[in-house]
This record gives sequence, structure tokens and C-alpha cells, in this order.
Amino acid sequence: MGLFDKIKEVTRKVSEVEHNIYHEKRDYLEIYERNLELEREIAERTVELNDANKRMFTLQHIWEMMNSSTPLENVLEAIVNSTQGELGYMHCAIIRKCHDEDGDYMHIVAQSHDNLIERLNDIIGGAGIQTRRLNYSEESVFADTMKRRTIVQTKSIDLSLSAVLPDLSPDVVEKVVSNQPVKSVIVVPLTAQEKEFGWFCVFSAREELAGAEMDFLALFAKQIEMAITIADLFQAVRNQAVTDALTGLYNRRYFEEALEKEVQRAKRQKQPFSVIGIDLDYLKKINDTYGHNFGDLAIKTIADVLKSNARSVDVPARIGGEEFNVLLPGIASDGAMIAAERIRKSIEAVEIDTIGHITGSLGVATYFEHSENVEELMELTDQAMYTSKREGRNRVTLAQPVSETYWQEIAVNTFIDILSKNKIPKVKHLSKELCKKLKNSNNEITKESLYSVADMLTKLYNPMHTQGTIKNKVIMAVNLAKRFDLPKEDIDNLRIAVLLYDIGNLMLPTNLLQKAAPLTDKEREEIKHHPVIAAREILQPISYIQDVLPIIEHHHENWDGSGYPNKISKEEIPLTSQIILIVDQYFALIEPRPYRSKMSNRDAVEIIKADAGKKWNENLVSEFISIIEHDIV
Ligand code: GH3
Ligand code: MG
Repeated sequence: MGLFDKIKEVTRKVSEVEHNIYHEKRDYLEIYERNLELEREIAERTVELNDANKRMFTLQHIWEMMNSSTPLENVLEAIVNSTQGELGYMHCAIIRKCHDEDGDYMHIVAQSHDNLIERLNDIIGGAGIQTRRLNYSEESVFADTMKRRTIVQTKSIDLSLSAVLPDLSPDVVEKVVSNQPVKSVIVVPLTAQEKEFGWFCVFSAREELAGAEMDFLALFAKQIEMAITIADLFQAVRNQAVTDALTGLYNRRYFEEALEKEVQRAKRQKQPFSVIGIDLDYLKKINDTYGHNFGDLAIKTIADVLKSNARSVDVPARIGGEEFNVLLPGIASDGAMIAAERIRKSIEAVEIDTIGHITGSLGVATYFEHSENVEELMELTDQAMYTSKREGRNRVTLAQPVSETYWQEIAVNTFIDILSKNKIPKVKHLSKELCKKLKNSNNEITKESLYSVADMLTKLYNPMHTQGTIKNKVIMAVNLAKRFDLPKEDIDNLRIAVLLYDIGNLMLPTNLLQKAAPLTDKEREEIKHHPVIAAREILQPISYIQDVLPIIEHHHENWDGSGYPNKISKEEIPLTSQIILIVDQYFALIEPRPYRSKMSNRDAVEIIKADAGKKWNENLVSEFISIIEHDIV
């Protein structure tokens, strides 16, 4: 081989090697690139796996909550917070579709706590979006998803916001949607037990969500629907338990529901109802002496007594350990006192194995009579029961109306003050007797004794006065005052004023008031002094009734300024004085007088009506008539 050939050979080999190297290099590059690709894919899959893990974890968390008896709102709260936090959305909410007399609306039942919602609340102001009644529009994305039962992703955040809060100005909407990260909202309809529940809403920073993610959100929504269904079922089961396991009496929850219904019925039908509260005496001693089982036996004994004494409409219930209540629909306090006394006697009569006899302390309160507020009524029942305890147990006590105890005390003290200081010469001979009547041996004050003393004093200057009228006047005056929403203090002062407003008459000559012939002008003028005599002479020195004085002084002022003593008119006259004038006139008309016979209620109403706008304010007359008509029919 010549040199040339050798060189050619070497060159060929070199290029062969080069060629091989090139190919290998290319192979390496390919492998390298493929590896890179694989690594990238592994990384992506890992992220997906992590996401899937997170989702599974979130689902599992929710599943655990659903299996406990956690209240629905807590479950929903946990769902939105974990969706937002763990799955990385900007915001999450569950909205409920509601309905009332004004139609369909929407309400946020749970939402994640995040910056986004804080920012929104700052911009829209008020107590926050979760407290608002959201508008439900048939054209909105919400109605659309619900109708089609499908997930919708919308980028029109401004439109969705204006649809639910149509009162927001475009400026505010613009402010909400600008400079914030949310690019789209995914709305998933929720149904539970075939009923439309509402929507699960996810606010994302991405414009498009991958199909897999949408599928996941749909799956997630199914989980929420399950949570709602389970919570509903739990609630239904809980609601079915109405009795107490130990005694078979109704339980507290059932009693409270029955009480609520009874209040509605009592208001509608204007009928009273009563509650008897019963507490077993000395249960602790029974437990300590004979053991818990005998304590339970004592409790069961009371339950049996309550059951056997109850009418079918009554609701005997065990409220707590040794506390019982009986609801007596349609029964006023006199009937309830009889029922309570019967229960007390029956408890006492039972002979229990080993323990012997037990007793209970009872309290009774009546709706309307003692209070029109149901919480207050229950409080009064309890207080009455404790009075029974305090006074020696094994007894029944009737509640004292809260709004009345204080004014009664003031009224009694006022009467005692007047009587004991002999301020009215004509009453001197009765002072001792009346004072005794006002405070019985236990120093107890009762409304009845107050009314009867006021009736007796009235009879002294008006022999035709009917016993019992004062009580009816107080009831009517208070009724009227309540229709004008007068505060409690004014009503209490009014009650005292009704007892005292005519007391000035006792300082006038007897023959003047009982004169059958028409009065002379001079005599008429003399009678007109009675409001001032009462307020300025008799009552003025009594420091604690100063607020009552103007009511009494002005109880003869007419609306048009034609009355006495000061000829004041319209709003210058205390409303309480106007109330007394109209009540006084009405009762005077239906009572006989030396110079005329008594009138029918209807005729009396006609006379009062004729003076509307003159003697009294027209509103007052119409309220008055509505009260009277109710009684006449
Ligand atoms: P009082 O006459 O003042 O009501 O005295 P008392 O001992 O009955 O009342 P107190 O409130 O001091 O104690 C009530 C006791 O009742 C304490 C509690 O352990 C017991 N008790 C509560 N529920 C039950 C129950 O279901 N079974 C039994 N056996 N005892 C109970
Ligand atoms: Mg007890």
C-alpha cells in the first residue's frame, strides 16, 4: 500500500470514528433529552399525586366530620375552609337557596375566612356579605346551574356580583372586581334528598380549570350533598325524641316547642295559658340516705302523679333532674292554682317503698296575667316555686307579675301615708281598718286588697260606685297605654294615678257630689278643684310619687283646651291624663248617677265618639273603641 493509500485509509477510519462518535453523541443527546422529559413528567405526576392526595385528605376530613353528629353549619364551615386553604383557591362559599313571603333569595351559610372576603366586606360596607339577603334572579348563573344541574365556570365576576347584590352601584362593583386576583368563579349546584339546597362556589385565580379539576369539584359537591343529607337525618332523629328516658314524660325540648306554639295560639285566640313548675323537695337527702335508685324512684313517682293528673291537652315535662313543668293550655291562674294544689296533694299522698312520703314545691304563672313575655313567664314560675321552697316547701305559690310588684308597693305606701297621717278628715274613722287591709299579717301586698281599698274610698264620695270598678279601670287604662307603647315607668305611674285621681273629691262637701238637682255655676267650679286638691294638697308631700302628680292634676284637661284646671291642650296634656279622662268618663256613663240612670256600653261609646277631637285625641278614641268593641261582642 502506497503512502497515499495509507493516508486515505487513516482518513476513512478517522471519519468512521467521527461518524460513530457523532451517532453515539446523538444517541446520548436523545437519551438525555428523553430522561429530561421523563423527569419532567415524574415531577408533574408527583404534583398531581400530591394534589390528589390533598383532595383525598380533604375529603377524608369531611367524611370524618360527617360521621360524627357535628352540626351542619360546622361541617360546611370546615368544608369551605379546607377547600380554600388546602386546595389553594382564592375563596370558597356555600350559598343556600331560601324562600320567604317575599319570594326566593340566597344566603351565605358558610364561607372561607380569607383576605378576599375581608376586602369585599370593606368595600361594600355594613355587617358583611354573609349577613345580607342575596337576590335570586332567574337570569343569574345560579339559576342556570341549578336548572341544568351542571357545573358552570364564569369569568363575569362583576355580573355575578351585581346579580346577587343589585343595590350595589356600578362604581362599587368596579372597585370590587378591579385589582384582585380572582379570574373565574366555579358554581356547583347542590341538591339534597332531591331538594334544591344551594350552591358550592369556588373562586379561582385561573381563567380555565382543567377537566379533571372540574370533575373533582363535582365529586366534592356530592360529598357536601351527603353531609347535608346526613345532618338532616341526624336532626330528624333528634327531633323524634320527645320523651325523657327515666320518666316517659315529655323532655325539655318538646316542652319548649309546645310552649312556643301555645304562645302563638294564646295571642291569636286571646286566651290565657298557665305553667306549673314543680321541684321535688329534699331529693339530695333521699339520694344520700337511700341511694340514687330511690332518688330516681321519687322522681318517677312525681312523673306518674303528673301523668295521671294531666288532661289530654296538657304537657307534663321533665325539664331537668328533679324539675318538672306542666303546660296548661287555655287555663287562667285560678284554674291552674286548683290543678297545682291537686298535684301537690297527690304527690304527698303516695306511699313509696322504703322512702315513705315525698313532697314537692310548686309555682304557678299565667300568660297575659303575669307576663306577655314567655321567658319572663318561665322566670316568674321559677320565682314562685322558690317562694314555695322558702316558705317551707310542700306548697303552691302564684307568681307576682314583675311589672306590678313595684307599683303596688308604692301605691300601698301612698295609701298608708294618707290614711295614717289622717290627711282626709272624712276617712279618719276608717284609717285603721283600711291600713290593716292593705298589709296583711305577713306584710304581703296584694293587688286585690289595693283595689278593694280604692273601691271603698271611692264609695265614700260616690255611694253608687260599684265594687270592682277600680280594677277594671286599671286594666283598661293599662291596655290603652300599651297600645301607645308607653314605657313601663309611665304605665306603672298610670296604675297608681288610676287609684288616686279622684281622691280630691273626699275633701269636697258630701252634698255637693251627691246632689240630684243640676249644679249651680259656683258648685260646678268648686268640683273642678278636685284634681288640684288631690295633686297639690293630699299627694304633694309624698316624695316618691312626684311623677304621678302631673297625671292626676291634668286628668280633666280636654284635647281642645276647654278642660281644667290649666286649660292646656293637645300634646301639652300627658297622654296618661288623657287615658284617665276617657276611662273615667266611660265608667261614669255605665254607672248610674243621682241625676240619671246608667247607660248601655254601646250608648256610652257613642257619647265618647261624639267628643273625638274635642275632649280627647281621635287616635285615643279609636284605640279605646277597638278595646271596648272587643269586650261588647
Ligand atoms: P330542695 O327541697 O331545696 O329542692 O332540696 P333538694 O335536695 O331537692 O335540691 P338540691 O337542688 O339541693 O339538690 C338536688 C339534687 O337532686 C342534687 C342532684 O344530685 C339530685 N338529682 C338531680 N337529678 C337526679 C336524678 O335524675 N336522679 C337522682 N336520683 N337524683 C338527681
Ligand atoms: Mg329539689
